[in-house]
Amino acid sequence: MQHVSLPNLRPVRYKGGISLVARKDKPTHQCTRCYKPWWPENLRPVFSESCPDCFGQLRRLTKDDPLITE
Ligand SMILES: [Zn+2]
Repeated sequence: MQHVSLPNLRPVRYKGGISLVARKDKPTHQCTRCYKPWWPENLRPVFSESCPDCFGQLRRLTKDDPLITE
């Protein structure tokens, strides 16, 4: 018998890839270089304006300036 325990991940599509996340709320930031979406808890206070992945500059997402997906 095989028992696989996986968190309930959902895909968040962004330009250039897909992030699998266990959360349902929308990301608050997007990297302007690699386009990955981020949530406040992902960001380190000291470097809150840079991408944890590529250190590109982050952009705050708003209704008028939503996530870039393509
Ligand atoms: Zn990045």
